[in-house]
Amino acid sequence: MTSAVVVGAGIGGLAAAVALARRGWSVTVLERAAALEPVGAGIALAPNALRALDALGVGDGVRGRARLSGEVGLRRPDGRWVVRTDASAAVERLGDTAVVLHRSQLVDLLAAALPEGALRLGVGVTSVAPGEPGGSQALVTTTRDGELAADLVVAADGIDSAVRRALFPSHPAPTYTGVTAWRFVAPAPADGVAPAETWGRGSIVGLTPLADGRVYCYLTAVLPEGTRFDDDPAELRRRFADWHAPIPELLARVEPGAVLHHDLRWLATPLPRFDVGRVALVGDAAHAMPPNLGQGGCQALEDAVVLAASLGDTVSAAGLAAYTTARLPRTTRIARMSAQVGAPSAWTSPAAVALRGLGVRLAGRFAGPLMERRLRDVVGWQPPV
Ligand SMILES: Cc1cc2nc3c(=O)[nH]c(=O)nc-3n(C[C@H](O)[C@H](O)[C@H](O)COP(=O)(O)OP(=O)(O)OC[C@H]3O[C@@H](n4cnc5c(N)ncnc54)[C@H](O)[C@@H]3O)c2cc1C
Repeated sequence: MTSAVVVGAGIGGLAAAVALARRGWSVTVLERAAALEPVGAGIALAPNALRALDALGVGDGVRGRARLSGEVGLRRPDGRWVVRTDASAAVERLGDTAVVLHRSQLVDLLAAALPEGALRLGVGVTSVAPGEPGGSQALVTTTRDGELAADLVVAADGIDSAVRRALFPSHPAPTYTGVTAWRFVAPAPADGVAPAETWGRGSIVGLTPLADGRVYCYLTAVLPEGTRFDDDPAELRRRFADWHAPIPELLARVEPGAVLHHDLRWLATPLPRFDVGRVALVGDAAHAMPPNLGQGGCQALEDAVVLAASLGDTVSAAGLAAYTTARLPRTTRIARMSAQVGAPSAWTSPAAVALRGLGVRLAGRFAGPLMERRLRDVVGWQPPV
């Protein structure tokens, strides 16, 4: 039986392990954390991700959790709408539904699809010897379980991937976008929440209702890298005090331990390839991107499906090269597009913000088809047959 060791049990690692196990591989997933995704945030899954999840056998479980519907749009901090559209109509034009759910639900569904005993929590990987397709096996050294040999190592260890650093030592590290982001999930206010993004000077607030009656909220600010606050909810209440309802109301109720705070970074220089020896990189380890298009996790799911399809039931140099060929240009294109669309949200000068509002309206009226074509390329992906 062909064997794989997967480093990291985020979305990318779990999905890769499920994809390989479905093709008859023996899989071991090593996760250094003691638990899976303990703190809450939501995740948006576009139609391409849902098709990848179908290929992994868990698409229906995810679709059942939430459906983006009703009016969605862009607002000003005073609550006025800049652009408003019907979510179901937009989704239909793009070919399938989109889903927003709690991250832990996605992670739990993927983990439940793993073979029994495949997941080992609290085991970190400290080094990887990549081996050679057709020659020696790959070898990983772990913090707890000694050395493990495998036909394939999947590096799914996230944006700060130690495996990537070891395999590409001179490659530029991820760079800061200039924007920092907070995320939390809170109970919805009594009269509900309209799904929307609100763009102010250098800040965005996104609100999305979840199927379980809660609201997923993300907030951004332009700050020097590494800026941290003792009390994130207090800082957010101060920054967004005069933004439209229900933003202050949601912030009033959030607990300090429930807020995630991350500087947004990305791999601005793409890797030369996603495979080295018997190692394949997936997800943020391979192509961390800014979250503006909500595609980082979606692309990790695509990686998993394409990696398993490229390899079949064995590890070959040709299969690994086919994986890189299928994934590198697409993820590079999407990462750059994500960086481009996010840039105006970080503008802070009042004149630039006014122009941005005008630009968004004009784009809505005249440049819709162009943006839609680019988005169709992103979300129209189909799994390999
Ligand atoms: C603010 C924000 C919003 C986002 N919104 C969306 C969205 O709506 N939709 C979307 O598709 N994407 C979104 N993303 C992107 C998405 O979160 C990531 O692309 C995705 O989580 C990457 O998954 P991954 O499995 O590659 O990496 P990770 O989720 O980072 O998982 C890596 C795992 O590897 C483990 N690990 C690391 N090193 C080791 C080691 N040495 N040994 C063992 N284990 C190790 C870590 O503990 C971790 O569990 C967003 C990102 C941010 C920051």
